[in-house]
Amino acid sequence: MRMFWLLFLCLLLPLPALAMGGGPHLAVGASLGNASPNPTVALGLGMASHIVLDVLPHNDDSSWLQVISLAAGLWTTKQIYEQSQNDPKVLWGAAGGLLPDLEHLLAIRGIIKKGKKRFPTHNGTISHGKRLEAKKALILELGVTGISLRLIL
Ligand SMILES: [Zn+2]
Repeated sequence: MRMFWLLFLCLLLPLPALAMGGGPHLAVGASLGNASPNPTVALGLGMASHIVLDVLPHNDDSSWLQVISLAAGLWTTKQIYEQSQNDPKVLWGAAGGLLPDLEHLLAIRGIIKKGKKRFPTHNGTISHGKRLEAKKALILELGVTGISLRLIL
């Protein structure tokens, strides 16, 4: 389990711009995973939730916002996981919520070309959310994260 969280952190910390913060992606994915009948559905719902969250207005530029949002998302995911009595579907959902942003990291590292991203909110097939002032974006991200936790209590 420690390796799982370490992998999450490795994926999250270098996330570049053009993505809603990793916190809401994690928390919403975890909540959907908790409600899923099996790990495959959990992964799929987590990935689907990534589209919805990317479409919402947000702020990718503020590093302090990203840190707070990520901390809230990690804490919320941990709470959901514990409430589920360590149900792996929660982690599959969280992984699905986070996984699409991996291609940002691959593009930055030059492993894939920036124009070759496949996820619909990353390649322009579905419009990305407009930029929101950092304080308003933080409220929205913490609100989404809080709703994720509230859904399982
Ligand atoms: Zn994204």
